[in-house]
Parts: sequence; structure tokens; C-alpha cells
Amino acid sequence: MFRYKKQTDKYKNKNYSFFKKKVCYFCVNKLNDADYKDASLLSKFITERCKILPGRASGICAKHQRVLTKVIKKARMMALLPFSVSEKGLSR
Ligand SMILES: [Zn+2]
Repeated sequence: MFRYKKQTDKYKNKNYSFFKKKVCYFCVNKLNDADYKDASLLSKFITERCKILPGRASGICAKHQRVLTKVIKKARMMALLPFSVSEKGLSR
């Protein structure tokens, strides 16, 4: 009985750590910078309204966040990513 309780406590603790620490995508894949032509990759790091995700949301480290911001802005200039999505575009 005691043992069972201990196990459920452990399980509870696991649930508490639901927000597991995210690792930087670029550090994991050993990429120094993103390719601005790779829109499908960059679209992972923007919101549905095409805003750039903050580093704390995407789990990207500060160094790569700076690089990524520039790359996304470049991709926008090349019309690979939209600057913003209007309210009408979202049909809400
Ligand atoms: Zn990184």
C-alpha cells in the first residue's frame, strides 16, 4: 500500500514537470544559421499571425534567436513569408 502511494506521488511529480525544457533547434542540429530560402523551416518559428515567436516560446537560445530574426526578416523581403496576416485572412 505504501509502495503504491509512493508510485503515485512520483507520477504526480512527473505531471508537474509537464513543461519540459526545450532545446534549441539549431544547437541540436548543429546549424550555425538558418537558410532564408527554407520557408517551411522558418514557418515553425512564427505564429499563425506570422509574428516571430519569442525565444522562450520556441526554445531557441539567444544567439540563434538573433540569427533567426534576421533570417525571417530577409525571407519576408524575398516574399517567402508574409509580413502579417490580416483579420480577414484568418476568417474569424
Ligand atoms: Zn542555439
